[in-house]
Amino acid sequence: MELRCVECGRLHPPALLYACEACGGILEVMGESGLAVPASVRGMWRHGAHLGITDASAIVSLEEGDTPLHVASRAAAAIPGFRGMLWVKDETRNPTGSFKDRLVSAAISKARELGAKGVVCASSGNAGASVAAYAARAGMPAIIVVPAHTPDGKMTQIAAYGARLLKMPGHYSRSYDLAMALARRNGFANLTTTFLNPWAVDALKLVGLELMQQLEGQAPTHVLVPTGSGPLVKGVVQGFAEFGGGAVPRAVAVQAAGCAPIVRAFEQGAGEVEAWDAPNTIASGISDPLIGYAGDGTYTLRLVRQTGGVAVAVEDEEIRAAMRLLAQQEGLYAEPTGASPIAALAKLLAEGAIPPDARVVCLMTGHGFKDAALWRSMPADAHEVADLAAAEALLGATVSGA
Ligand SMILES: *Cc1c(COP(=O)(O)O)cnc(C)c1O
Ligand SMILES: [Zn+2]
Repeated sequence: MELRCVECGRLHPPALLYACEACGGILEVMGESGLAVPASVRGMWRHGAHLGITDASAIVSLEEGDTPLHVASRAAAAIPGFRGMLWVKDETRNPTGSFKDRLVSAAISKARELGAKGVVCASSGNAGASVAAYAARAGMPAIIVVPAHTPDGKMTQIAAYGARLLKMPGHYSRSYDLAMALARRNGFANLTTTFLNPWAVDALKLVGLELMQQLEGQAPTHVLVPTGSGPLVKGVVQGFAEFGGGAVPRAVAVQAAGCAPIVRAFEQGAGEVEAWDAPNTIASGISDPLIGYAGDGTYTLRLVRQTGGVAVAVEDEEIRAAMRLLAQQEGLYAEPTGASPIAALAKLLAEGAIPPDARVVCLMTGHGFKDAALWRSMPADAHEVADLAAAEALLGATVSGA
């Protein structure tokens, strides 16, 4: 096993490294452990032989991965002009409610294998909750840095697992810098889930593998991915390339209009992504301005283009509509970021960028429980009733008509 720079190709030993020593580029894991996995193992470690962890006793798992893929025909029917197939991969079913558990389980296991004594993570909330949970399970100290405006539900969850929670004013990139400095100072492993930690990102290729198995080898035409810096985009593309018999779907990177550095570069036909000044969106999971590491966005943009995909931005109002659609047509409860691909699908169909008969997978990346405050701000069919008479007065028409 080695780490390879995606920019200059330089090889590095399998250590806790976060950038190429020659050019500063993103590192990726080369090779597989071939780890012998007992047949009783469930979740993503079923495929542990494809990952980079060689010592099975170092693995920290809460049975993440192997998430359901739902056919979403009622949601599909509610999207104007759509005649294709729609699936939703329900990543909210991971142990802490987001797909970050996949990255964190792999990275903390490798950190333990390499002798790390603690872990640090900068997070917009979900990665922090995940690192806090897995650190608790591993009996390792954890320091989590989040922007001070992170949704309450996510900060409450991080604190509940007993991690040290540092709330930093300003946007996510400031938390990112602090976490980097703290990791260096304490000799802790950095589990920040941008492209920093190659052992984390590597595990996301199993999303592509799972999709191929769940669709019985019939690759979708498009996979819609909520996108911050883009590790999940890489995971999907790499997963299909390695395990999909060469059938790589078009990768659609979905961002919020209030923080869309990758989409801006895509629409301008630019080769390089530039950082976003002032993020402003309800989609906290993808509110990453990439300040100081815009190269991560450039790498993701390249991957999207290689697959013939697109990058698309959706407005907060469109995201709210998509949240309601998933919840009320499919029984799927998402945080804003998790519903953003559904909003993007409606938009791309209307623009003709996705054909009406496409086979589409939307990744629902984060749970509705994560952002209850946002859900509370939406219209609800909820009423105070003192007694039966009041309930009947309210429901009268519905009940007698039944
Ligand atoms: C982190 C996160 C994303 C963005 O993933 P990247 O791989 O960083 O682009 C999407 N959705 C949710 C819910 C997240 O927490
Ligand atoms: Zn390099």
